[in-house]
Amino acid sequence: MGLHMWTEAVDLHSHSTNSDGQHSVEQVAMMMSTSNVRFWSLTDHDTISGWGSAFQAAKREQITFIPGVEITCAPGIPASEAIMKSRLRERASDSWHLLAYFPDLEMSSDKHEDFKKWLAPLGDGRIPRMQAMVERLEQLGLSIDFDSVVARAGDSVGRPHLADEMVDSGYVATRQQAFDEWIGDGKPGHVQRSKPSIEEACAAVHKAGGITSLAHPLYYCVETSALIEFCQSVGVDAVECFHRSHDDSYRYELWNAAKSHGLGVTCGSDFHGVNYNQSPGSVAVPISTLPSEFEPIMRSHFESMRQ
Ligand SMILES: [Zn+2]
Repeated sequence: MGLHMWTEAVDLHSHSTNSDGQHSVEQVAMMMSTSNVRFWSLTDHDTISGWGSAFQAAKREQITFIPGVEITCAPGIPASEAIMKSRLRERASDSWHLLAYFPDLEMSSDKHEDFKKWLAPLGDGRIPRMQAMVERLEQLGLSIDFDSVVARAGDSVGRPHLADEMVDSGYVATRQQAFDEWIGDGKPGHVQRSKPSIEEACAAVHKAGGITSLAHPLYYCVETSALIEFCQSVGVDAVECFHRSHDDSYRYELWNAAKSHGLGVTCGSDFHGVNYNQSPGSVAVPISTLPSEFEPIMRSHFESMRQ
């Protein structure tokens, strides 16, 4: 079986308007198909609300959709100052992103529902976090109407909406003052978004029968062997070696390290939209190094193509 071959038919990392992408799920599916992607995963941040439409769109485009999500987690290990310097990064990421895939998930099964429940409070953590901030302000003597804050927002409520409500309620004169005195990072009314650890996220994904891949490790500024050992110790199944931001030498280093520790590698364009100067697909990957869970899908796809 030709699973040692390289292919550009796989794109396991993309975003739609369900998170911070520019295009609808349908448009992303169409662009993937036009770019000759045949195995596509939509991996919106902390939400799986696009899966239903992605399945339908993929069917129309005659491509295979693999349900996915990119989970925002707490950093696994602290960034190295030296690597930050060498990569010209001023700040270490305050989160690590874990890609999760569910190649055999049955929609609406218990596993699906349980995972949805686990993910929901992280689901951008926005509504629960806003609720917590309104409660905290209440304890500090500032009574804010939660529904009015939410009504100010379109799809995703954030601190600027809260700040505007505080201005209109007469507690502060400006949005800036609301941030400076009350809701900016570290201020008394500020509540941090809750993030699971990588280990917790892996456990939740595995429970639902999924697999995980650490997204774009380049951004975390951690030494490669420490990174791979960490991944192995907490149950991460693969690393996103072939990411558009990784150059060949970093891909080479990650690939070797992952393979020598028995981890898989995945590939992804991390497509957010044409306005970001990005394009879907065109990320070559050797099929044999993808996590073995993908193999049956690819096998049946390539074999059906030959008939
Ligand atoms: Zn992404």
